[in-house]
Amino acid sequence: MMKIHNPATGTLLAEVPQASPEIVAERAAAARAAQPAWAARSMRERMEILQRFRVALAAEVESLAATLTAEVGKPIRQARNEVNGLLPRIDFFITQAEGAIGAQELHDEGGTREVLSFDPLGVVVNISAWNYPYFVGGNVFVPALLAGNAVLYKPSEFATLTGLHIARLLHESGVPLDVFVPLVGGGAVGSALLGQQIDGVFFTGSHATGQRIAAAVGPRFIKLQLELGGKDPTYVAEDADVKAAAESLADGAMYNAGQSCCSVERIYVHERIHDAFVAAFVETVKGFKLGDPTSEETYIGAITRAPQLDVLDAQVADAKAKGAQLLAGGQRLTDRPGNWYAPTVFSHVDHTMDLMREESFGPIIGLQKVSGDAEALTLMNDTRYGLTAGVFTKNEARAQAILGQVNAGTVYWNCCDRVSPRLPWSGHGDSGVGLTLSTLGIQTFTRPRAWHLRQP
Ligand code: NAD
Repeated sequence: MMKIHNPATGTLLAEVPQASPEIVAERAAAARAAQPAWAARSMRERMEILQRFRVALAAEVESLAATLTAEVGKPIRQARNEVNGLLPRIDFFITQAEGAIGAQELHDEGGTREVLSFDPLGVVVNISAWNYPYFVGGNVFVPALLAGNAVLYKPSEFATLTGLHIARLLHESGVPLDVFVPLVGGGAVGSALLGQQIDGVFFTGSHATGQRIAAAVGPRFIKLQLELGGKDPTYVAEDADVKAAAESLADGAMYNAGQSCCSVERIYVHERIHDAFVAAFVETVKGFKLGDPTSEETYIGAITRAPQLDVLDAQVADAKAKGAQLLAGGQRLTDRPGNWYAPTVFSHVDHTMDLMREESFGPIIGLQKVSGDAEALTLMNDTRYGLTAGVFTKNEARAQAILGQVNAGTVYWNCCDRVSPRLPWSGHGDSGVGLTLSTLGIQTFTRPRAWHLRQP
């Protein structure tokens, strides 16, 4: 049995049976047997089923958000935002599926037609993270199912109850039990899934686990997508609206207690506005209400995984030892049960510090003074990651000149921590391979078939 605890209180929420290796093998074989019939249904039928899932989600937003808050410690308003945020993504996938993966006649000349069609991959594995289980899961299983795949879904062990709700709602909406198969457990269950006869692996999680998965499936030449971590930078130029930039970036750094792959994790501030920006940033952070995640007023909730507190402590100690100036927070909160970290802001940081190099994945940020665009660009690119990057300036041409040279899959002008279903979500470097979202993120669950058809 797997014990599920509330990270905000430490209390036991539930005990759930874990999938044994035998169950994993049995369910994977059942999914393989069921997949062809699912693929043989019309796209319209699959769209209607996913539409029913959308309606079911919308009807249960409050209770689903409450479960999410209880098991990951996310403030209730942010949990509700997440469940509600999946709805337009489902709309996007449903309305775009036909255009993205319907057959296309591309050429017709001299009695020969050239047609492109998209076959489902077959049985795909979706190994998911806990920080946004509706988003990172939905980005995979919705288009994968629309495209005619069977999905072996392993929710994170820190978001299992949410994963089981997702499975229940999909099944109630008409997805057959063997076409969407939840498998409960931790890394061992994920690893057992990789050993099955599968056609693709779609993973969201840490770089370290991504490397293990790539090593396990690489030689098999099956589709592999890895959506991994980041160390996302933003540059605030001297012509930016200081207050607006500080408020937006404080939110980008601290939303979901900084436990977002695209959290703002480093900020470079032009020397001419540095002091004013730092003051406005710290004031905004100090205004964030930390506490009971079930309260409507709370903005900063618990840290979901206890071991992350050690990572944050180590980054704080390293930054202090190397001369950074602590402006807010700087320690875990031990006056209550559960996992808590005070929102933490440092200035006078540099790239010798882990705080500016390694993913923090918590409510902690470094603000570094820079002399101008060239230094900012050099520092932004001084990372092994490449998920998102941003620039705040009034001048669009200047922002585009910088952002065009940043090594990142997503770039922002005067905004941050933003994801759109219409645009692909992808990382460069150690932030991963492949993509989700956009019409490309529907095609990614298929294999193209090229037809050359000559009339006799
Ligand atoms: P994690 O790597 O610890 O776990 C992710 C999943 O992998 C879990 O379901 C886990 O059970 C499973 N797993 C662990 N070991 C495995 C193994 N050997 N084989 C197969 N599966 C295994 O990551 P996490 O703590 O759940 O998520 C946090 C990380 O995810 C952060 O680094 C964050 O930046 C990243 N993330 C990235 C994106 C993105 O879109 N790029 C989105 C959300 C989170």
